[in-house]
Amino acid sequence: PTSRDPSPVQQDVRVLGAREHNLQNIDLTVPRDALVVFTGVSGSGKSSLAFGTLFAESQRRYLESVAPYARRLIDQAGVPDVDSITGMPPAVALQQQRGGRSARSSVGSITTLSSLVRMLYSRAGHYPDDQPMLYAEDFSANTVQGACPECHGIGRVYEVTEDKMVPDPSRTIRERAIASWPTAWHGHQLRDVLVALGYDVDVPWKDLPKEDRDWILYTEETPYVPVHSRLTLPEARAAIEAGVEPSYSGTFVGARRYVLDTFANTKSGSMKRRVAQFLTVAPCTVCHGKRLKPEALSVTFEGLDVAELSELPLAELSTLIEEAVERATGDLDGTETAGQALDETARRDAVQQRVDAGGSAHAAAPDVRKTPNHSVEKLAATARLGAELVNRLRPIIDLGLGYLSLGRTTPTLSGGELQRLRLATQLTSELFGVVYVLDEPSAGLHPQDVTALLGILDGLKRRGNSLFVVEHSVDVMRHADWLVDIGPGAGERGGRVIYSGPTDGLAEVEESVTRGYVFGGSGLPRRTPREPQGWLQLEHVTRNNLRDVSISLPLGVFTAVTGVSGSGKSSLVSQALPALLGERRARTVQAEDAAAPEEDELLLTDEPEELEGTVRGDLSGVRRVVSIDQKPIGRTPRSNVATYTGLFDHVRRRFAETPEARARGYKPGRFSFNVTGGRCPTCKGEGSVMVELLFLPSVYTECPDCHGTRYQSSTLEIIWRGRDIAEILAMSVEEAHDFFHGEFDIMRSLAALIDVGLGYLRLGQPATELSGGEAQRVKLATELQRSQRGDTLYLLDEPTSGLHCADSDRLVAHLQTLVDAGNTVVAVELDMRVVAAADHVVDLGPGAGDDGGTVVTSGTPAQVASSGVGASAPYLEAALQ
Ligand code: ADP
Ligand code: ADP
Ligand code: ZN
Ligand code: ZN
Repeated sequence: PTSRDPSPVQQDVRVLGAREHNLQNIDLTVPRDALVVFTGVSGSGKSSLAFGTLFAESQRRYLESVAPYARRLIDQAGVPDVDSITGMPPAVALQQQRGGRSARSSVGSITTLSSLVRMLYSRAGHYPDDQPMLYAEDFSANTVQGACPECHGIGRVYEVTEDKMVPDPSRTIRERAIASWPTAWHGHQLRDVLVALGYDVDVPWKDLPKEDRDWILYTEETPYVPVHSRLTLPEARAAIEAGVEPSYSGTFVGARRYVLDTFANTKSGSMKRRVAQFLTVAPCTVCHGKRLKPEALSVTFEGLDVAELSELPLAELSTLIEEAVERATGDLDGTETAGQALDETARRDAVQQRVDAGGSAHAAAPDVRKTPNHSVEKLAATARLGAELVNRLRPIIDLGLGYLSLGRTTPTLSGGELQRLRLATQLTSELFGVVYVLDEPSAGLHPQDVTALLGILDGLKRRGNSLFVVEHSVDVMRHADWLVDIGPGAGERGGRVIYSGPTDGLAEVEESVTRGYVFGGSGLPRRTPREPQGWLQLEHVTRNNLRDVSISLPLGVFTAVTGVSGSGKSSLVSQALPALLGERRARTVQAEDAAAPEEDELLLTDEPEELEGTVRGDLSGVRRVVSIDQKPIGRTPRSNVATYTGLFDHVRRRFAETPEARARGYKPGRFSFNVTGGRCPTCKGEGSVMVELLFLPSVYTECPDCHGTRYQSSTLEIIWRGRDIAEILAMSVEEAHDFFHGEFDIMRSLAALIDVGLGYLRLGQPATELSGGEAQRVKLATELQRSQRGDTLYLLDEPTSGLHCADSDRLVAHLQTLVDAGNTVVAVELDMRVVAAADHVVDLGPGAGDDGGTVVTSGTPAQVASSGVGASAPYLEAALQ
């Protein structure tokens, strides 16, 4: 069989013998130029087919065509296990982002709208009279030309104050008055150098002259002097007098300089964390946090500087620019040279782009930037660039993201928001003849927003593209031209094509778990809402778009918080509530605090956001508040499902208790891949090593010594129930649940993971590979495996996102048992089937961003459904039928 496409006119994509992961040697034919939806329970093999096989093969062929010499790269990227694929067009994949994201990228940069805005300011901005004209890069804080000279484009300055560095001024320097100094030998050395420089380190800090204190803390000088080790000032003087040979020579560094240099340069996370505690962050006094140089900020468009414009919600930005374009076009029509000016400005833009990009200026026509503020040239630039901006903003707003601003940084976006932004950007890229492979584009979307999403997908299809979409939304399934149901179960119990054909035909397929959800029959049982055990009154809550909101939340029941995307659900449930309840109840547990803070978080890029509000009500029954969100559970591959839940500790103990391990003296630590001892020394327990490739991005490849097992062969000689420790890590949660039969401490963690729909994860699956929803469910399982005392308030953010209906039903059933045990659950939820199963519903809205942020309606599901107000009512009504 050949993997080459023999006929470019073939109308189908044909797959023969796909065996990637759990796929059971499947054959499949799906149409091109159609919306093909892949369904199935979590772990059934949808992604292995859509991404692991179809997209991977398309990518492999692409790599082969652009870089035939890069065989090695292709080998490492992995060749999908499939006999042949024919008819597959070039593919573009949009997967949910996993793991961390850069704080430096923003909505503006990932959509490339920012560069258009900078061009607009450069060419069409209003300049003060005496202000020289600027290039597009002058409006970017990420360039040397544009950055504020004071804060280098960061917008904040780090201050290191005496208060922080010297928390207890009654101590002497020898008694470690300067808390920010390094510990151990370097601290001693700095002290000895101070003595050598003639400072007394044995008087209380507060009794040193201010001049001395200031020099020690703030000097930028770095004197290098001979030192007598461990002496007092009088002893040192005597030693010099007596001509005693110095112990060594050392350099002094001011305490502030030490903190700043270490923070900026250290590669060690713990060092960085240590010095970070001595830093305070203040907005830059020159740019006031706007990050740009004063000249750039003096240029305005419609009365706003570029930083202010970047903070506008995109919907508002679009209106503002549309109006400017209209006015500019109107003014242009009044001039005789309008048409000419428009042609001319297009030509000049092209030239200036070249000049801006560093090219030569010799070809430049008269520079539009040197023309007066209301010149024809500027009007034309406004009309042209403005129209382009409005055009590119439209699909983003249509996808329900009009509440975002250009300046919003990517770490504050949900995975779904990020994916929809990328989708909207694709829409204006005018590609055709490609297949888009998408991973749950409906994630985070309210049913009302799903309608808009379907419109966008239809648009891509009309332009001659194919869409392969992995989805859990029944609305998207019903809209599909072709449905591929994989299953019936997860892992070994899945991996077969249960159905492939037009959606209607699924109705006949009894084996399909999906069928009952598309055509009715399956679902959560009808329930009578529980009676609240009490109420919490939240008053004057202010956070993001929530402005002075008052909300009553019932205790001892299951509350679903719903509303369109951007209405403020997360702001309430993941941000305001944990913080406000934390003030009342000291023991708020942030699940992610279990892991040490990661270095990125220490960049302190985000100012603490405003939060106001009070909580009243009877909290006597609530002893713990547990907030479980979708933040990653760790950003290193060293953290995995087994280590995070703690079950790996028990497993390692089992291995250490075997007779062979005892005989060899192996302790539980021997079976860890995170510490030296039993792990593979070559890859330090990572299982993979990085290979640098000339001209190409580096890739990870299996460690040649341990072959990816992470362990030394001697460690793998220890066998428990016929398996070595690496084989255990390779098991899925479900396999492990069978394997560890009777081992109750281990079974409890595994059962909790299965309850939250994660039975398909491998125990050793690195945390970095988990989606936001999976990470949240791992945290939830970790929490559920504890003994329940019925006194906990759980705050969850879209716990069912990324789950097949059947999996989310199981999760919801579990949440119900938590509530039956006396706990309270408050969950953001968008699946109206789940909302219908809640006891209480809070519908936020009515719209997104500034158009939302209020409680539109609340009550039992039936009350909200029949309220006739809010975006959720009609969908909830349908779900209650
Ligand atoms: P779905 O997309 O339907 O949730 P997946 O295709 O992700 O399912 O997973 C199908 C099966 O393949 C599961 O049993 C999963 O554990 C396994 N699997 C997924 N990724 C890998 C991998 N990188 N290595 C080994 N097994 C994997
Ligand atoms: P939902 O959860 O309903 O989709 P969010 O609570 O995420 O909505 O967002 C509500 C509003 O608050 C939006 O206008 C959003 O842009 C804004 N917002 C949310 N998080 C942040 C943040 N970290 N910084 C600034 N604005 C934010
Ligand atoms: Zn500044
Ligand atoms: Zn190794």
